[in-house]
Amino acid sequence: MFVSAENGIQSSSPSETSVVILGTAAALADFEHANTYLAVVRQGRYWLVDCADSPIGRLQQVGLDPLAVSGLIITHFHPDHVFGLPIYLMGLYLLGFFKKRVRREPLAIYAPVEALQLVRAMVGLFQMQSWTDMFSVEYHPIESRPGWVVTEDADFSIVSTPTHHSVSSIALRFLAKDTGHSLVYSSDTAPCPEVEALAWGADLLIHEASGAGFGHTSAAEAGAVAARANAARLLLVHYFADAKSRLLAEAQRSYSGPVQIAEDLTTYAW
Ligand SMILES: [Zn+2]
Repeated sequence: MFVSAENGIQSSSPSETSVVILGTAAALADFEHANTYLAVVRQGRYWLVDCADSPIGRLQQVGLDPLAVSGLIITHFHPDHVFGLPIYLMGLYLLGFFKKRVRREPLAIYAPVEALQLVRAMVGLFQMQSWTDMFSVEYHPIESRPGWVVTEDADFSIVSTPTHHSVSSIALRFLAKDTGHSLVYSSDTAPCPEVEALAWGADLLIHEASGAGFGHTSAAEAGAVAARANAARLLLVHYFADAKSRLLAEAQRSYSGPVQIAEDLTTYAW
């Protein structure tokens, strides 16, 4: 499902350089809002950032082949950001099996050091590595340091910074190699200088807006971060549905650029 351009923010098909918002909810999902996770896309290939919900069907719904995954990044180990991982891995396994496309290269999973240990333990509970023709998974730790180079591939270079949350968490910056454009995703955080620095001059800043305090950010604070970072556009995610109608006006009080409230299963070019 695609939406038309609004507030100067383009939406597009997931074939070009884009981000697909697979869910928009803060920790409390509802029937219209899955927990926040997203796919960063270049020509049909995608990086999955966090893994909520049941991703296989959601990826298919936005026109992505789930098997075209470049890698997976988990920002932190809270249930709403990781609970879809086991069924996602099982889905990739079964899709490959049924399409006779057994994945030969390992699937890379990146996460902050503490989160990575817990992700490994969670995946390990299901003993998937004993399944016939199961692809292997490689685990890569992300250090809690500003400007940490997570990885790079033919499409993107990816950098992280630690955020201010109740557990160790990271924000991410994707630089598209062919266009030089950049996308920054705050994940969960209180407003902080680390995210501001990472978001400096970003073409699109995706910031959480679940409310002020307790390691989170309000829409007005997200607008202020976007303004201080000189970001070109702001997209709000990780919000509570009952606050949705207020978010746009709140963000616009502190940020004069284009703002949009992300909708589930919507693709945004950047
Ligand atoms: Zn969290």
